[in-house]
Amino acid sequence: MDASLNAEELAFREEVRTFLREKLPKDIHARWLESGKIFPDRDDAVRWQKILHEKGWIAPNWPVEHGGPGWTATQKYIFALETASYGAPPVIPLGLGMVAPVIMKYGTDAQKAHFLPRILATDDYWCQGYSEPGSGSDLASLKTRAQKDGDDYVVNGSKIWTTHAQFADWMFCLVRTSDEPKRQMGITFLLIPMTTPGIEVRPIITLGGHHEVNQVFFDDVRVPQSNRVGPEGEGWTVAKYLLEFERGGNFASGRIALNMARLKRLAQTNGMAAEPDFRRKLAELEIKAETIAISELRMLSKLKTGDNPGVEASIIKLRGSEVNQDVTELAVEAAGLYALPFEQLEQAMGDNRAAVAQTEAEAGVAPRYFNYRANTIFGGTSEVQRGILAKASLGL
Ligand SMILES: Cc1cc2nc3c(=O)[nH]c(=O)nc-3n(C[C@H](O)[C@H](O)[C@H](O)COP(=O)(O)OP(=O)(O)OC[C@H]3O[C@@H](n4cnc5c(N)ncnc54)[C@H](O)[C@@H]3O)c2cc1C
Repeated sequence: MDASLNAEELAFREEVRTFLREKLPKDIHARWLESGKIFPDRDDAVRWQKILHEKGWIAPNWPVEHGGPGWTATQKYIFALETASYGAPPVIPLGLGMVAPVIMKYGTDAQKAHFLPRILATDDYWCQGYSEPGSGSDLASLKTRAQKDGDDYVVNGSKIWTTHAQFADWMFCLVRTSDEPKRQMGITFLLIPMTTPGIEVRPIITLGGHHEVNQVFFDDVRVPQSNRVGPEGEGWTVAKYLLEFERGGNFASGRIALNMARLKRLAQTNGMAAEPDFRRKLAELEIKAETIAISELRMLSKLKTGDNPGVEASIIKLRGSEVNQDVTELAVEAAGLYALPFEQLEQAMGDNRAAVAQTEAEAGVAPRYFNYRANTIFGGTSEVQRGILAKASLGL
C-alpha cells in the first residue's frame, strides 16, 4: 500500500495517526480494546464521535455541502484502515452511515434541516428497525403494520435484533401500510421517536454476555405522517437505497490487522507462537488477510474512478467477516483455559482474576469470539453474499 501513496497521502496518514494518539481519550481506547463488543456503548460512542465531529472527520462519505470533509477515495481508505488498526472504536453507522444518506436523497427540506446537523453532531442516536422475528434475509415479508389515523400512523408489531435500541432516540423503521400482491409494495419508511408511548425495548443478551441487541414491541404507537420518508407504499425503494450503504464499500483489513496483532501478542506471551502447528495456522491467516487487502485495493481503484464498489464489496464483507472469525477462533485456541468468559473463569478459579488473565488480549478473547459469529449474519448473511456473487460475478 505504501508504494501507491503519494507524498500528500502519506502526510495525511501521519496526520490521522497523530490525531488518534493525541485525541482518542485513553479510557475510551482501553475500554474498546478490552471489550470484545460489536459497538462501544452510547457514552463512549458519543464522546468519541463528538471529538471526530469537532475535527471535521466524523462523516467521510458525506458530501461537503452537508458537512463531509471532501476526502478522496484514498483518504477515506487511509482513515478507515488507520482508525480500525489503531483500535479506535468504530463510528456507529446507524445514523451517520445509514439513515443520513436516505434523508439526503428522499427526505423533505424540513427533515434535512432538522435531522442532518443533529446526526452529524451525534445529538441524536439511531437504531434500525428492519428485521422482524419472521423476516430477516427475506425482508419484504415484514408484518409490522401502520394504519393511518388522522395526521398519524398507528404502528403495531415487533422488530428484532435491533442494535442499541436501548440507547436510541430514534428508529428508522419499515412498516406495512397496505397489502399488495407484490410484497415489496405497500411498505413505508418511518422515523419513530423511541420515547413514544407504546414502545417497549426488551434486551437480548448474546453469548458474548453483552446487551447490544433487542426486541422492540409497538403497541398502538402514534407516529406523525410528517415522519415518513418518501411516498407511502414506496418504502422498499428507500430501504434498498439504505442497504447499499449498510452493505457496500466497507473496508475490513484495519480490524483484521488489529485482531491479528492482538493474537500474535497473546501467542508470544504464552509461548504458543513457538508451536509449529500454531505458527502454520497463523501463516495461513496472514495469507487470507493479504487476499482481503488485495480485494480492498481493487475496490479502491474502482472508487477512485467514481465507479461503484461492485462485487468487491460482497467479497470483502464475505471474506472479511470469515477471516475475522478465524482470527478470533485461533485466539481462543491460543488462550486455552484463559479464554473462558470472565464470569466462568471467576467461578472456576476463584476471584483472583489478575492471576489467571495474563494479558490484556485475553480479557476479551471469549466475548470477541462469540460476538464475531454475528459478523457473517448481519449486514447480509454469507449465504446471501454468495448468492449475490454467483449472480453478479459468475453469471449464474
Ligand atoms: C448482532 C446482530 C445485530 C443486528 N442488528 C440489526 C439491527 O440493528 N436492525 C435490524 O433490522 N436487524 C439487525 N440484525 C438482523 C440481521 O439483519 C438478520 O439477522 C439477517 O438479515 C438474517 O436474517 P435472519 O436472522 O432472519 O435469518 P434468516 O434470513 O432466516 O436466515 C437463516 C439462514 O438461512 C440462510 N438464507 C436465508 N435466505 C437465503 C437465501 N436466499 N439463499 C441462501 N441462504 C439463505 C441465511 O444465510 C441463514 O444462514 C442484526 C443481527 C445480528 C446477528
